[in-house]
Amino acid sequence: MEILLYPNPVLRKKCEKVQDIDEEVLRIARSMEETMYRAKGVGLAAPQVGIVRQIITIDVGDGLITLINPEITLFEGDIKMDEGCLCLPKITVVVPRHERVQVKAIDLKGKPVTFDAEDLLSRAFQHEIDHLKGKLILDKLSKIKRDLAIRKYKKLNAEDKD
Ligand code: ZN
Repeated sequence: MEILLYPNPVLRKKCEKVQDIDEEVLRIARSMEETMYRAKGVGLAAPQVGIVRQIITIDVGDGLITLINPEITLFEGDIKMDEGCLCLPKITVVVPRHERVQVKAIDLKGKPVTFDAEDLLSRAFQHEIDHLKGKLILDKLSKIKRDLAIRKYKKLNAEDKD
């Protein structure tokens, strides 16, 4: 799978819930996992590879988690940290996040699962669930910081093309 780059309009779409975990969904999930590892990312959401459905995969170093229709059901605390995104290569921005989150979802066997996450896993969940709503890390910034980040992103990635 190819990772779409900002400002691809698919990254702005709201993803549909998955109704059935059929062969196609399983195939998409496996492909997303491979794509995430190949890109050396800690998470990937379906719209990042052009699929507008609620599927995410995460591995922050504690094992692979692939979820269908994930939702943040509880959150607590505030934290600001540097974050990057596979759709915005070469830049990181300081993003405000909840410190801890509870996430409910369905696993690939169709079983309901709940995670209570903190640290990197908490941020990865928030980042990937944002993608399912068409939200990017840039949206968490003030207009001035966002414009600066976009300028830097365009500059760094334009140099790369030659
Ligand atoms: Zn991202």
